[in-house]
Amino acid sequence: MTTRVEIIAIGKELLQGQTQDTNSSWLAKRITALGGLVGRICIPDDDVAAIVQEIKVSFGNNAQIIITTGGLGPTFDDMTLAGIAEALGSPLTLHPGALEFVTRRYQEFYEKGFVDDPKITPAREKMAYLPQGAEPLDNPVGTAPAVFLKTLQGVICALPGVPKEMQAIFEQILCPRLTELLGAAVYREETINTGIKDESVLGGISEQVMRKVPGTYLKSKAAGFGQAMGLEVVIMAVGSDAQVIQEKVHEAKSILLELVKALPTRTAR
Ligand code: ATP
Repeated sequence: MTTRVEIIAIGKELLQGQTQDTNSSWLAKRITALGGLVGRICIPDDDVAAIVQEIKVSFGNNAQIIITTGGLGPTFDDMTLAGIAEALGSPLTLHPGALEFVTRRYQEFYEKGFVDDPKITPAREKMAYLPQGAEPLDNPVGTAPAVFLKTLQGVICALPGVPKEMQAIFEQILCPRLTELLGAAVYREETINTGIKDESVLGGISEQVMRKVPGTYLKSKAAGFGQAMGLEVVIMAVGSDAQVIQEKVHEAKSILLELVKALPTRTAR
């Protein structure tokens, strides 16, 4: 069985179009490659109630893993941890390990000349207040620790919004934990250029392939009419056995190509 993962990208600037939400697509790709099933991506405002609502919806959807990005910083509108704490009904408390991390990072940034003063101000200390039971994760790039929290309903991982920080924490720290949580899931995909130019024709063929090879999913990549190239279709499969998954993709590809070949020439090319 695949593990359902939901991504919550937090931030007003995403909703206002000032920043494009590239974090979600990056995470979705990585989680899919690890064999997880990304079931939903949403963007709430920098608002505790909005964040609480999305976390509750995710757990209501039986998401076993929730990943948030953004809103971990020192400013007043960084609300992610307050939202998570409220959703779980547990208070934010000062975490000694997180405070130690924040203190060390500001000292390092001070020595490098990035900040004028290493002192831990209330704004800086705010980043060390975590929901009860949460574990801080080192941020190799920035000052805000990421957060890993196991709850009865599932795991919540809170990552910073800055893509470089988010990606570094994901790859260096979170990935091994996620691999364990996602089990031995394997994902394979293959992209085929079908030569078909009409998506409505390709849709019918894809459905036939999915029926014949259960466990595969075929997604055509839409393009405008009259394109010189034919449409591409991505064949995807996920499961626990790498060989079975690879065979499914291979079988789906063979059937797809046979069905395309059987089309009247004018439809296919
Ligand atoms: P910091 O600790 O640096 O304050 P943060 O976790 O508080 O990080 P935000 O303040 O929410 O993160 O966002 C910081 C910056 O990261 C934004 O100004 C934007 O440039 C970028 N960012 C935030 N969310 C996303 C996203 N979903 N996709 C791409 N970039 C993002």
